[in-house]
Amino acid sequence: MEGIQLAAQVTPWLASGRTLFLIIHFLGITGFAYIVAMRLVPLLRAQRDLRFDRPLARLGKVLKFGLAQWKHPRYRTAGILHIFIFAGFICLVLRAFSVLIVGISETFVMPGLSGRAGPIYNIITDYAATVVFLCMFIAIVRRLIFRPARYAVPEKFGKAHTADAIFLLALIAILMVADSLFAAARAAGQVQQGQAVELLAAGSLPWMLKGLLSSSSVSALRDFYFGAYLLHEVTFYFLLCYRPFGIQFHVETSLFNLYFAKLERGTVKPVKYGVSDEQLDQVKSFGVKKFEDFTWKHMLDFYSCADCGRCSDNCPANAVGRPLSPRFITTKARDYAFQHYPVFGKSNNHKPLIGGIYSEDEIWSCTTCGACEEECPLLVEYIDKIVDLRRGMIDDGNVPQSLQKPLKALESRGNPYGKMEKKRADWANAKDFRQTCPVKTLDGKNKADTLYFVDSVTSFDDRIQSIGRATAKILDHVGENFGILGAAEKDSGHEVRRFGEETLFMALRDHNADAINASGVKRIVTADPHAYNALKHDYKDMPPVEHISQVMASEVKSGKIKFNAIENGNNVYTYHDPCYLGRHNQVYDDPRNVLDAIPGLKRVEMSRSRDRSFCCGGGGLALFYEPNEEQRMGVKRVQMAAEAGANVIVTACPFCMVNIEDAIKVAGMEGKMTAIDLAELAEKQIVCESPVLEAMGAAEIRQENVAGR
Ligand code: SF4
Ligand code: SF4
Repeated sequence: MEGIQLAAQVTPWLASGRTLFLIIHFLGITGFAYIVAMRLVPLLRAQRDLRFDRPLARLGKVLKFGLAQWKHPRYRTAGILHIFIFAGFICLVLRAFSVLIVGISETFVMPGLSGRAGPIYNIITDYAATVVFLCMFIAIVRRLIFRPARYAVPEKFGKAHTADAIFLLALIAILMVADSLFAAARAAGQVQQGQAVELLAAGSLPWMLKGLLSSSSVSALRDFYFGAYLLHEVTFYFLLCYRPFGIQFHVETSLFNLYFAKLERGTVKPVKYGVSDEQLDQVKSFGVKKFEDFTWKHMLDFYSCADCGRCSDNCPANAVGRPLSPRFITTKARDYAFQHYPVFGKSNNHKPLIGGIYSEDEIWSCTTCGACEEECPLLVEYIDKIVDLRRGMIDDGNVPQSLQKPLKALESRGNPYGKMEKKRADWANAKDFRQTCPVKTLDGKNKADTLYFVDSVTSFDDRIQSIGRATAKILDHVGENFGILGAAEKDSGHEVRRFGEETLFMALRDHNADAINASGVKRIVTADPHAYNALKHDYKDMPPVEHISQVMASEVKSGKIKFNAIENGNNVYTYHDPCYLGRHNQVYDDPRNVLDAIPGLKRVEMSRSRDRSFCCGGGGLALFYEPNEEQRMGVKRVQMAAEAGANVIVTACPFCMVNIEDAIKVAGMEGKMTAIDLAELAEKQIVCESPVLEAMGAAEIRQENVAGR
């Protein structure tokens, strides 16, 4: 090529082009390696985290959430923008490396791109560079002018990273321009010299720039060519080395973060990985107190967060003005890591996290609903970190006043109300109920196939006991040979564990597990999603567990359950997904199928339903905790139901029932809105079979049950 030289041959300054670019490569690569190594220092000092199992499942996460960008379309505009940017980057990877190498080896062609594939690939990447450039422009305008509310940073959570985000977006835009200008100048030079012209994609950025350069002299084109190349090199390496200082570090870390993401829903991490329950008494300090108490994966989460705000946008605690917004749990920790583990200089000043970057109220405000984790496109985890921070506070004796009494009662009586153990089965002993549905206690003499695990709120709360009776009647109706543990049952410990009291949880779990194993049952049914989640995920080697909505759905299908038509055809029902049935265990359809099987029942969906369900305010011990908030979560939920046009909220969780009924009163909607549990509604509507058959079936079961009492 005469008149216009390849970048490597240009010697406008002291060094030859090749030497100059070699130096840039060397500085860029060693600089990046050094910065990343320094960023890894806190991870090396972090706690263990066992994330190296099940490589295929992990690879599946990378493919689904990384390459297929699974969660991005949940936010349409930002999601589509991100998909285009990501796809553009994927297309441009080979081109970027080819361009980098051309500076030191001008005849270099990427293997596989020397034949016909080369021009096709060039056309694809011309468009890719154009799309990425346009997306950067739109993203900058969005950040500056049409900024979604979720990007805002309230003063209490620190400072916004807007300038940083815009700077990085602008750098990527410059990189795309430099890449396109480089290709455009080369093509324009080829035209000027009558050589075979490299094809540029019509309408693309390089194509447009080539048009602009077409009347330039050969020497000007040579300067453009060299300048664009230099700009590309410098911007590329600057971007590479600058990203680990801010939110764009997620570009490097996110695929790793997806690979090492948590595989099991509904679980809580152990106090320490690799330390068995029996060895726990040798552990000197529980939970997270200082930054290095986080696991390396949790630190990787901090680096991988893209600061998109989706987690906080869906967090019910944030929505009602509690002092918690999950995004800032991450960004504050990342700022901490950057400040205390600097790239240049020694790590320093390891202050406690609570009182340092987090407040106590912030950490107690979480209901562990899981909405943040469900929404995060990068699978950043929150619940385990929050539970670990609570473990740390509990270990230091730092328990909120309002939780001290229920925790003590759980320790001494096995329930948060401090009621006598022998009263646990009182709900089943009401005379009129006992006559229609005798419930046997599996106390060694009595055996049954199925255990109905009742748990504390249903056992002791006067209003909620009706859910227990409805559940028992449904089990009775479908001919289930079932019983309860009675006084031998203690609280499942589900919330105790999530409030950070691991040793108390272990005591409750071990007691219940012994009682369940001694009962000899083959399966467990519960109407409480918290107990369901605990028995399924927190306990070990239990018989299979089902929620009553699953039992009902399958018996509706089998034909054992049939419903009478709804009496009041004017009622409009909506189903509220309890967090520990829906998000944590993916039971979305069974409760809806039961409702839809009731003839004449009109059902509408709330705007936030299924995996975007809005927490009612938290179950278990959250009932006793009094957070700072502007509004109750339950009130917000009731308003959502009203907005959907419903006047009956159906739920499938005793805690939701407590919160929602309370919220209806607080919202002044008594008479306009009611709440009912799915089991209560189903039991009310169930068709009793022909009197003769019913009498025969019921008589058999009752005989057995009565004999067992
Ligand atoms: S689990 Fe729920 S309450 Fe807790 S931070 Fe996440 S979204 Fe907020
Ligand atoms: S944690 Fe996830 S959802 Fe939240 S801001 Fe970061 S990337 Fe977005």
